[in-house]
Amino acid sequence: MSSYDVVVIGSGPAGYVAAIRAAQLGLSVACIEKWRTADGRGINGGTCLNVGCIPSKALLDSSHRYHDTREELAVHGISTSAVKIDIAEMMARKDKIVGQLTGGIGQLFKANGVSGLFGTGKLLANRQVEYTDHDGKISVLDAAHVILATGSLPIDIPAAPVDDKLIVDSTGALEIASVPKRLGVIGAGVIGLELGSVWGRLGSDVVLLEALEDFLAIMDKAIARETKKIFTKQGLDIRLGARVVGTQIKGKKVHVTYQSKDGTEQVEIFDKLIVCVGRKPFIDGVLAPDSGVQLDERGTVAVNQQCETSVPGVYAVGDMVRGPMLAHKGSEEGVMVAERIAGHSAQINYDIVPNVIYTHPEVASVGLTEEQVKASGDAYNVGTFPFAASGRALAANDTDGMVKIIAHADSDRILGCHIVGPSAADLVQQVAIAMEFGSSAEDLGMTVFGHPTLSETVHEAALAVNGNAIHKANRKRK
Ligand code: FAD
Ligand code: NAD
Repeated sequence: MSSYDVVVIGSGPAGYVAAIRAAQLGLSVACIEKWRTADGRGINGGTCLNVGCIPSKALLDSSHRYHDTREELAVHGISTSAVKIDIAEMMARKDKIVGQLTGGIGQLFKANGVSGLFGTGKLLANRQVEYTDHDGKISVLDAAHVILATGSLPIDIPAAPVDDKLIVDSTGALEIASVPKRLGVIGAGVIGLELGSVWGRLGSDVVLLEALEDFLAIMDKAIARETKKIFTKQGLDIRLGARVVGTQIKGKKVHVTYQSKDGTEQVEIFDKLIVCVGRKPFIDGVLAPDSGVQLDERGTVAVNQQCETSVPGVYAVGDMVRGPMLAHKGSEEGVMVAERIAGHSAQINYDIVPNVIYTHPEVASVGLTEEQVKASGDAYNVGTFPFAASGRALAANDTDGMVKIIAHADSDRILGCHIVGPSAADLVQQVAIAMEFGSSAEDLGMTVFGHPTLSETVHEAALAVNGNAIHKANRKRK
């Protein structure tokens, strides 16, 4: 029987990062991954690299360039004609990036001495792991520590069963071969907005059917309102309070029935339908009945703040445990667990995990929303700054959106930052760093920002918290 200090099950961003960090810290590590390519080869990287973050961002970038070239260049005095998109070429570029990054994990494993094993892992009792390779050969690995990192899957709803032809999930939506004339999207969440934007930019008429009456319900309300305005101006048809209750395939069309706010049933006809109504933890076949690992009431593996499960020496990280389903959250958990196994005292500040929707403009946030701060009863101040007042945004003809910073009224400590606007992902990260160091809005306001940069909008919003913005009129403080 092979034995290791650490066996990781799953090589998504949570698992592969945990494996590399543990090996860097001198531990003997194996990482088991069951994902296979269409031609049967084992492949690392999980959802993020294969069918998530990376391929979706590749398509977002390609479609943004196409749309920009067609629609946004004239204002700069640049004329174009006969701009065309080759979808097969665009998909091939995406696949090449995926291949490069997934292959890179194998190289990193080799460089760090991680044993990468392709096949399926199952946790048995006493920290033993059953490993079934892709030829069906079964062996048992003895592990001093096990890190479960088996990720998540798209949720499917009986009202819209995925057939991978006319009705697809997020994975199928990354493989559509030609631009659908009319595209339906169930769920105006992160995936719906990102992938709806991709196909909208390429020429589809996109209708998003969202069950909730609030748009981006968990976001800061002012930013969600502003975001909806921008996306609607871009042509996305966002219908709120629209709960999909059934679909029918008729010929080459999907007929979608949804209940609208007033209780009446409406039918829309689409050439393609994307179902993106959330994701669920993937635990099928991962735990033997006597593994001893307990699930919580939502069916995810129960863990504490340190990602320890109910079994000593067994940890769980990433999408399969509580918290936001984000690649960077899982990676940080992987690092934390590896460090703790190696005897260090690492921890994660779950209060400062940035969240981004990679549309254009991007929507990004970190920390508390104004609604959450208000509900806490603490007094607070808010500073906002519009991109329309930024010299750099004007120069780039990219002026939609705003920055909002919320700070505690007494300590002035920054509690949250919410942005819709160009490069929002990178801008919010600046505030995340400031928050990690306990910055006040005044500290950020006293920091020197380069000119002309988009990050000056963050500077001005921080100044506005205390009524000191220079490039806009400040609200009078009582
Ligand atoms: P996964 O990436 O799902 O990896 C789990 C791995 O475990 C898989 O490879 C699976 O095959 C393997 N596995 C499962 N069971 C076993 C077993 N028994 N034995 C061996 N291996 C097993 N997040 C962001 O932060 N930013 C983004 O821009 C972003 N974009 C996204 C876009 C889309 C379209 C989707 C679907 C998701 C996106 N996400 C994004 C979410 C992100 O992909 C996930 O949060 C992240 O992949 C979770 O990492 P993980 O390692 O926990 O799980
Ligand atoms: P989501 O939770 O963001 O959105 C799903 C939406 O579907 C919700 O608003 C929900 O109200 C709606 N819905 C559910 N049932 C419905 C029905 N019957 N009819 C109409 N609407 C319905 O989930 P998602 O967009 O599928 O994304 C899943 C997860 O993947 C995200 O929560 C996120 O963690 C991760 N992700 C992250 C990124 C990123 O970081 N940029 C990108 C993509 C995915």
